[in-house]
Amino acid sequence: AEFCRQLPKVELHAHLSGSVSETTIQKLQVKKGVGHDHAHQGDIAIGKGETRHLEEPFRIFKIIQDLSDTEEAIFTMTEDVISEFAADGVRYLELRSTPRHVPHTGMTPSTYVESILSAIQTCKDREDVVVRLLLAIDRRQSVETATTTVRLAQEYVLRSDGVVVGIDLSGNPAVGDGRDFIPVLKEAQNSGLKLALHIAEISQQATSPETAALLSLPPDRVGHGTFIHHNQDLADMVVDKNIPFEICLTSNVKAQTVASYSDHHFQHWYSKKHPCVLCTDDKGVFCTTLSEEYRHAAETFQLTRPDLWDLSYHSIDHTFGGEDLKQQLRDKWNTEKEKLF
Ligand code: IMP
Repeated sequence: AEFCRQLPKVELHAHLSGSVSETTIQKLQVKKGVGHDHAHQGDIAIGKGETRHLEEPFRIFKIIQDLSDTEEAIFTMTEDVISEFAADGVRYLELRSTPRHVPHTGMTPSTYVESILSAIQTCKDREDVVVRLLLAIDRRQSVETATTTVRLAQEYVLRSDGVVVGIDLSGNPAVGDGRDFIPVLKEAQNSGLKLALHIAEISQQATSPETAALLSLPPDRVGHGTFIHHNQDLADMVVDKNIPFEICLTSNVKAQTVASYSDHHFQHWYSKKHPCVLCTDDKGVFCTTLSEEYRHAAETFQLTRPDLWDLSYHSIDHTFGGEDLKQQLRDKWNTEKEKLF
């Protein structure tokens, strides 16, 4: 466990609201003047050994989003989440979040993004972690809202000096049709934004036409991709285009889209030497850390320390921060390697 914590790591799939820790939730509750009964930890996190239907995390995200309805709350959340990842040995972090409009507090999608960016800015001098941001489209949103999000991302690529790097498509996979977003995702891609899309998270999506349509964009990374290998044509697309998978072991087990750690599709792709990156998804809601995810992978799939090292080191290839930054990260990893082995 200590090796997994000390290992320098890359986190590429972390939703801001889902990553918020119990400590931060309590801070937000105090600020908002709501009691702990309103949303105590039992309600907003899925503990050790517990599993719930996938609908449950979406109920929890809503509670956390209601608690974080001001710019100040978004700033606090972001700052805390960054510190927690850094303390767990994450050296490069890509956060993702869905810009929100909250009329009663005056928060707009722009000020939402600005609050996240200013928290990232205050962490900029930290030696221990580099942070980038993806703006998320929620599947239940209208194409119009999605377009606003992409335009915001385009605007903030310049204004944030490259902190905003791409677009995520997420949200309840049982809701909506991903094909609706193809034109706006193409627009994002054409303007140089990277795409990390949740694809085939639930079994119905192994046969639904949206999956092939999204894969043919193609995205730069696939989130989950749980049921892609159930369909040979889809699996071939992923292999042909060499699209990396963002793998969230605990999230998938706890939300019951995967029966157990040993049944996880990581095994399928890892054994084919297909690029896979271990990630947390929602470390707060699923009560995990990235080093825990490395430990689970090691225990379940008999990975050695050098295997874990390689997994982490090769994750750098799939970051969206650009070639110079990748090289800096590789140098950093190589320096840390001497201390670990
Ligand atoms: P936020 O965008 O920072 O508010 O983070 C919470 C949001 O992330 C949720 O409302 C979902 O749209 C998305 N999300 C978090 N985890 C998952 C997942 O496992 N599948 C799909 N969407 C997710």
